[in-house]
Amino acid sequence: MNSTTKSASIEKSIYQVIDQAQFCHLRLCSGEIIDHVQGFLINPINQENNRFVVFTQKDSGFLKQLNPGSQSEISFVHSGKYYLNEDAQKKAPVYFIESVKKVNHNPSAIESQLGFDRIIGNRLQPGLDFTGQKVVVRVDFNVPLDEQFNVTDPTRILAAKPTIDFILQNGGSCVLVSHLGRPKGKESRYSLKHIVSKVSESLQKPIKFHEDCIGSKAVSTAQDLEKGEILMMENLRFYKEETSGDKEFARELAKLGSIYVNDAFGTAHRAHASTTVMAQYFGRKKYFGKLLESELLATEKVIKTGKPPVVVILGGAKVSTKIPILESMMQIADHIIVGGGMVYTFKKALGGKIGNSICEDKYLDYCLKVLQKAKKLGVEIHLPIDTLAGDSFSNDANRKEFPSDQIGEQFEGMDSGPQTLEYFISIINKCQTILWNGPIGVFEFPNFAQGTMRIGQAIGQRTRQGAFSLVGGGDSVSAVKQFNLAQQMSYVSTGGGAMLESLEGKTLPGIKALLE
Ligand code: AMP
Repeated sequence: MNSTTKSASIEKSIYQVIDQAQFCHLRLCSGEIIDHVQGFLINPINQENNRFVVFTQKDSGFLKQLNPGSQSEISFVHSGKYYLNEDAQKKAPVYFIESVKKVNHNPSAIESQLGFDRIIGNRLQPGLDFTGQKVVVRVDFNVPLDEQFNVTDPTRILAAKPTIDFILQNGGSCVLVSHLGRPKGKESRYSLKHIVSKVSESLQKPIKFHEDCIGSKAVSTAQDLEKGEILMMENLRFYKEETSGDKEFARELAKLGSIYVNDAFGTAHRAHASTTVMAQYFGRKKYFGKLLESELLATEKVIKTGKPPVVVILGGAKVSTKIPILESMMQIADHIIVGGGMVYTFKKALGGKIGNSICEDKYLDYCLKVLQKAKKLGVEIHLPIDTLAGDSFSNDANRKEFPSDQIGEQFEGMDSGPQTLEYFISIINKCQTILWNGPIGVFEFPNFAQGTMRIGQAIGQRTRQGAFSLVGGGDSVSAVKQFNLAQQMSYVSTGGGAMLESLEGKTLPGIKALLE
């Protein structure tokens, strides 16, 4: 097919889709492929007949040269925004759209104020020159330590590496600021000095350390940094002004550099001095770190552009803590799988016998309402069929399988039974987008860990077949690490509360501050 015929036939298919849905997936065909979804600039050139052309910006560094004829799939939001001025449009190459697929569910029901498109200008993108600049990077190095102050899980340090490498490669030096734990004043066991060698090992670079995070000595040490050097400051939370979001403290911190980068996704939901308040002292010289960008992109891939069918797997101990996410996920999911301890409040509400299983009687009505609401919205809620129960809350409890609504009086539900797992996995296997939040059973006890592990394995397998999977929020992240499944997921979030709030459609204060 030559390109003129191709574009004519494509216009027709776009026309059909745009009529029906705001959210579409486009398959593009061109000689070049774009590095990342956000590299696309989409412009409705003629709103009247809904003709769409996809532009890319040559100088933006988004483009990668690949073999002619390669394909790329992107998602976009028909927002009617113009990203390029007319002059730029003339210069930009046009990509022919090969096919368009409608997204069935309705992501616009979640009013996330932050579309990923809004951060484009604030990304760490090629072309930025930080030569001679001291860049203050808010990282989240709140890592677990053992009794001897050894870092037991360096995930968060490694997650900041792309941002730090980017700054150094583009001529800057880094001033790292972070919190560690919840100290009450200057408690030496929470000093960041304990992790300097691990940070150095993880980043494969020497690290300088300063025993304070504000003050004239701190500022002059930062100013003396040579190009390519990294300085880590002492724990921000040694000052209570950090968590209270004190303006003066934030102003002092801002003196550490001329550019601000926030890469601390794990604390982006807090309006603290270093995560939110200090951003205002950098004018336009503030950027989303690469981790923050990846986390946002992963969230959007579920809540805005998730390919249907979308399945959300919710587990964990209590219904009460999952209400916001349950409510928001009902707006976007085709399927919601309910596992973990929260199952038993649902089962009791439906008239089942749940023995000693964990249950929140206050939420019985709520569970019934959720089921009704889901029906109205066309969301299928899947509850377990059978349960592996124990006669005490311990790994060594005597185990017995029961139908999930007929659990023996002396027993409590602690994991999914075999029929349930088969049923849940069959749902996962037909979905294209998977969000997992909360374990399916008491996975900390090896005798009740099978369900969580098998669900994790099934998600991993489905991901290999092309589905997008996001593991976000709390204990399901610990579970995928425990079962060595993290590599099999499309994305494992580094932020518990922050990821949950993002999924609920909230704009996090740390993110908002970068856009203001
Ligand atoms: P959450 O932080 O709400 O996601 O809950 C995670 C906790 O839920 C984990 O510590 C699990 O052990 C626990 N959990 C999972 N299933 C059950 C269950 N059937 N009964 C009690 N606790 C459970």
